[in-house]
Amino acid sequence: MAQFARPRVAAPRLEREIFVLVSSGRARSRKEIAESLGIAPSTVSQRVQAMLASGVLEETGEGASSGGRRPRALRVPGSTGYLGVVDVGGTHARLGILRHGGELATTTEVALAIADGPEPVLTQVTTALRELAGTLGSEAGAGAPGSGASADGGRLLGVGISLPGPVDVARRALDSPSRMPGWSGFDVGSWLEDALGVPAVVENDANAMAVGEHFGHPRRTRHTVSVKAGSAIGAGILVDDRLHRGAGGAAGDITHTRIPAAGDTPCSCGNRGCLETVASGAALVRLLREQGYDVAATADVLDLVRDAEPVATTLTRTAGRHLGEVLCAVVNFFNPGAVYLGGALSTLEPFVSAIRSQIYEGAHPLMTRDLVIAPSALGADANLVGVGRLLEDALVPHALAG
Ligand SMILES: [Zn+2]
Repeated sequence: MAQFARPRVAAPRLEREIFVLVSSGRARSRKEIAESLGIAPSTVSQRVQAMLASGVLEETGEGASSGGRRPRALRVPGSTGYLGVVDVGGTHARLGILRHGGELATTTEVALAIADGPEPVLTQVTTALRELAGTLGSEAGAGAPGSGASADGGRLLGVGISLPGPVDVARRALDSPSRMPGWSGFDVGSWLEDALGVPAVVENDANAMAVGEHFGHPRRTRHTVSVKAGSAIGAGILVDDRLHRGAGGAAGDITHTRIPAAGDTPCSCGNRGCLETVASGAALVRLLREQGYDVAATADVLDLVRDAEPVATTLTRTAGRHLGEVLCAVVNFFNPGAVYLGGALSTLEPFVSAIRSQIYEGAHPLMTRDLVIAPSALGADANLVGVGRLLEDALVPHALAG
């Protein structure tokens, strides 16, 4: 049967996957677990039984028995609650509360300046997160924080944050980000844990987006590349449903790939001729300014292209072709099932269609035959959902962590 086609999963990893499904609320029964993982119900029952015996899971469902076996739901003891998720950009942060089941219950945005440094920014973020959680509590009819688990609200179980720079995930700190004074090496994870009293995960924004998009599209594929094209360009990779960070945590960083069309143009990385210098929002701003246009930020470029301004449209299409050229090599090498396009530039039709045609023309037919190239499914919420998934993984008890 097709549902058993998935490769056999080793027991520790299987228990971990079961735990995450149950703790996140995406599966509540053995049947739902078996369907979600595509493995035999008997295998699931065996593992669940062991997890019940060790107290990692418990059964609920006090409903009266109607003769047969009463349906019992699985849950993680003490897990009633929600996750705080944050996506920090250069000039604003988007925040959300993820409820049990992975649904974004509510979101908000706050203006900030990442160049102010970590402590002012994180103080703003935690204040806003507490306020957001407060609104959720009153909606759900929950009592004051600390009054115990309510039916739906519960308490904050963890916080996940995505940051716009290279992240050392183990140290939970940024690693030499450009234009972010004070952030390099600052332990964002510990700061958040001290401030909020719950576990924290820290991730790079392109990776967070990639995880969100990977699980957010209705037609699922196990191998995906997600590209974030905004004022800079980033990409994240999932292999076999797991984020691939690479040996140094920099996997997917295609923005500094040198391409002939970029010539000798100096790049923010200190090199010359990088993709970023011809295909990013910052590059489009520079190119338009060179032609006398009064533009200051990527948002100005978006306005011009949406108004069908011919020069901006042509430059944007060319930028898409350059990015598509680099993605051809990525697709040929990695053979993904889908390439998802996010970030502000990916809301522009000329940019997306240029990428699409470049990949379909340039990559090998075996790679493109079943390849899906699709715009972001989650838009501005992709990072929040993605960092929430990573947080769910991080909340797995040490006994199951593998
Ligand atoms: Zn560069």
